[in-house]
Amino acid sequence: MNRAHNFNAGPAALPAEVLEKAKEELLNFEETGMSVMELSHRSKEYDNVHNKAISLLKELLNVPDDYEVILLQGGASLQFSMIPMNFLKSEETANYILTGSWSEKALKEAKILGETKTGASSKETNYDRIPELSEIDVDPKDSYVHLTTNNTIFGTQWPSFEFDWDTPVMADMSSDILCRPIPLEKFSLIYAGAQKNLGPSGVTVVILKKSLLEKIPDDIPTLLRYDTHTKSNSLYHTPPTFGIYMLKNVLEWIQEHGGLEGMEKRNKEKADILYKAIDESDGFYKGHADKDSRSLMNVTFNLPNDELNKLFLNQAKERNMIGLNGHRSVGGCRASIYNAVSIESCKALRDFMVEFQQQHG
Ligand code: PMP
Repeated sequence: MNRAHNFNAGPAALPAEVLEKAKEELLNFEETGMSVMELSHRSKEYDNVHNKAISLLKELLNVPDDYEVILLQGGASLQFSMIPMNFLKSEETANYILTGSWSEKALKEAKILGETKTGASSKETNYDRIPELSEIDVDPKDSYVHLTTNNTIFGTQWPSFEFDWDTPVMADMSSDILCRPIPLEKFSLIYAGAQKNLGPSGVTVVILKKSLLEKIPDDIPTLLRYDTHTKSNSLYHTPPTFGIYMLKNVLEWIQEHGGLEGMEKRNKEKADILYKAIDESDGFYKGHADKDSRSLMNVTFNLPNDELNKLFLNQAKERNMIGLNGHRSVGGCRASIYNAVSIESCKALRDFMVEFQQQHG
């Protein structure tokens, strides 16, 4: 089977084993005589899938008992609005740490709903780094601090979470959730659209502290309130059943591959292969991110000029390497190497980078 080396930024590669399983189960899921998509979301068969996805998330992320895990729709983008709707009170200020276009978009929504400030930003250097903790201005009076743990477009990632702020921290983890273990207890709320590390698009995972739920004002519409979904086990209305089934299968795949420790080891190996190719190219390939802020998930780099960038991308495509074009705000190339992208795909890209430089360097 000719599977592409899929470096798409999202929707992105899914594990072949997960797709095979879905194929096998498609027409007759667990002897129901129908696919998961055709089951009632109130059936016991679907309920098992739903609860398994939630319990695997709890297990893999070591979710403490005082947190809730919910599965929503509307993508990470709806969370940009739901967070301030539910948690930004009129007399308070929400603090946004800007590390890329997605944090800017999150801030834009919060500004519609209330007062905001920017606790730190690396915009001045085209978001090539994560600010140092000492640069970040957090006030215990801020209603919350929002950050983006991995910046999909610029290829930067928070290297660790050493902060100890007395302010609830809310994080967009869309492009690096489950890529490595995280200290979840440092966050009051995390969220992620599924289409990078979790499954197909259409499902959004939100994990939040139960104590936050008491703060939700009465005048928020039902579907946009977090407590609607916590109270109903994410079954207030019809959930994206097939997406959640795929999420469950992806989570099982992660568990079978060593959980988050296993993912981190594999992801570091993959990222090292590509960053080494950049670092050993004598400047032919120029990485966008500062070394200390490099992402395990999105490797961004430029060739010496636009013409070479284009030629590189075209020739890569001929070799079945897909999705390597960089976002227009950085230009050049971006290899998205989410959990499901194989070490072999990274080696194939590395080999091509070396060969291309030999010919054009
Ligand atoms: N945040 C980040 C970090 C992202 O990478 C993306 C999607 N590329 C989004 C938010 C937006 O996600 P969605 O399309 O699910 O709304």
